Amino acid sequence: MQKKSAKKGTKGVGEPNKTMDSSGGSVPKKARTTTTAKEEEEIFNVFSLEMDSLECDVCFLPFESQIYSCKNGHAACGSCCISMRRKCPTCSEPVGDFRCRAMEKILAGMTRPCRFNKHGCTETVRYTEARAHEEEACRFAPYSCPFDGCAYRGRLLYGHILDAHAPAGDAATFKKCTTSNAMVVTVTLQKSTPFRTLLHPDEESVFLLLNGGDVPTARSLSVVRVCPYGAEVDQKAESTAGVLLWWSLSARLELQFVRQLQGYKAKRFLFVPDDFWGSTDSLDVTVCLW
Ligand SMILES: [Zn+2]
Ligand SMILES: [Zn+2]
Ligand SMILES: [Zn+2]
Ligand SMILES: [Zn+2]
Repeated sequence: MQKKSAKKGTKGVGEPNKTMDSSGGSVPKKARTTTTAKEEEEIFNVFSLEMDSLECDVCFLPFESQIYSCKNGHAACGSCCISMRRKCPTCSEPVGDFRCRAMEKILAGMTRPCRFNKHGCTETVRYTEARAHEEEACRFAPYSCPFDGCAYRGRLLYGHILDAHAPAGDAATFKKCTTSNAMVVTVTLQKSTPFRTLLHPDEESVFLLLNGGDVPTARSLSVVRVCPYGAEVDQKAESTAGVLLWWSLSARLELQFVRQLQGYKAKRFLFVPDDFWGSTDSLDVTVCLW
């Protein structure tokens, strides 16, 4: 307190910047452009921070509410302590027994508006919760178009795909199965095509049939939902997808939501050996949603 009042007392409003004109008179206009003591206090109470100092040293993701360290003070997040088998990657000492309470306290007090506030989100998020909110929960986060080279990023992905990609034959639409409640679509998939876009007749939901090249001598087929978000999806909506090939190979998969394809690895997929692709390197694939 003493420090603050001393600061206010010694620095009168505008005083230090008061200048004299050639006739010796003061120039009050210029003085008014200087900051008040209160403004100055606010300015000088804001410190800039290297954001990577708030990230886990192991996974480089922002710290969440619990931060751990080894006895030498190297910090790691909870999931990294587990994945590193509680051995500090820097000094090999056990990590996970000590909590960095001071750091946790700082992060707990750091808040900012959601980064999608321009899109309509009014939430204020804590530093430790921002990632989960913006990547998964925020209803206002824009979607990125999955097509390579397409720069579309917005809330109207369904309409965008319909206008920009469907005319070129890059999208197919599900139809209700005549014998059950399932939604079904059959598409011809080229071996070299990384995905096919599947639209739901609800004019909102976009799915991708992914054609992964991550398995030797085969392709891995899986289905993901790219919009809307998990939190926005009606509880009754489809939660499972099936992938069928000529009714000879099939897999039942739990539907995942993906924000971006880059780096996504399906947990379950239909393994399609190279022999299945035939001379045209293509296959007819049926996708069902339950
Ligand atoms: Zn980590
Ligand atoms: Zn260490
Ligand atoms: Zn938000
Ligand atoms: Zn696009």
